[in-house]
Amino acid sequence: QALTQNELLLYYQPKVNLRTGVVVGAEALLRWQHPELGLRAPGQFLQLVTGQPFDLALGEWVIETALSQLSTWLNQGMRLEVSVNISADHLLAEGFVAMLTSALARHPDVAPQQLELEILETGALNSMAQVSLLIADVQHMGVACSLDDFGTGFSSLTFLKQLGAQTIKIDQSFVRGMLDDGEHASIVHSVLGLARSFDRHTLAEGVETLAHGQMLLELGCELAQGYAIARPMPAAHVPDWTDQWRLPGEWA
Ligand code: C2E
Ligand code: MG
Ligand code: MG
Repeated sequence: QALTQNELLLYYQPKVNLRTGVVVGAEALLRWQHPELGLRAPGQFLQLVTGQPFDLALGEWVIETALSQLSTWLNQGMRLEVSVNISADHLLAEGFVAMLTSALARHPDVAPQQLELEILETGALNSMAQVSLLIADVQHMGVACSLDDFGTGFSSLTFLKQLGAQTIKIDQSFVRGMLDDGEHASIVHSVLGLARSFDRHTLAEGVETLAHGQMLLELGCELAQGYAIARPMPAAHVPDWTDQWRLPGEWA
């Protein structure tokens, strides 16, 4: 009902380069504008969907909506990169690549390079061989892939070697905790080292304060996302936000 009654929408959270101040893109995050309960975040409803056939329809809606938004922004003179969250079930569903191909074909003005799929590390762990083939197929189309919430699964070196995703998103629990917890800091440090060895990009999630950003810069992690930069926002706010955002002095 929520889907047919147009109650679902995507918010966008900017991703920036902490060193150069460049806005590198945005992550599309699902929201449900519930008629009585108001705006709901995925944590409040997504578990109802997981494992259900509707999961696939929802994922398609997210991809379609993000591509339409990219197209709208292009018409307004703004070229961004947007990442969408894809459930492992959806990625592994029959016809995923064909669906993605036709979605891109419906938006010929949007380059495949403007789209990225965020795949949960934990989701990918269960069927590593299949997921790794799918990532290769998707990347062959020009669409980027990243591993979301990295560090929360049972990642092994084999896992990283096998999955060709270009970007590792360091889970926000480690980033948020790294200022007061040496073990969390060690995890962030190790993931950065691992990414360098395997020639992957890294993005830190959960950058809540200027101090988090400073420490990430010291550790050599340049890409970040978090409340200290911007909260997820409606699509209509993104162009103005992008125009007015300046790198905080502490990071510059
Ligand atoms: P995620 O992909 O790891 O997204 C990051 C989450 O962290 C978002 O929560 C975002 O609002 C929140 N966040 C960002 N910066 C900060 C920060 O500095 N501090 C804190 N405390 N939180 C921050 P959100 O939007 O509630 O989404 C939660 C999760 O739901 C996402 O985690 C993702 O796994 C899932 N999700 C979101 N949209 C979709 C979707 O379209 N499809 C699917 N399958 N899953 C989605
Ligand atoms: Mg994500
Ligand atoms: Mg994440």
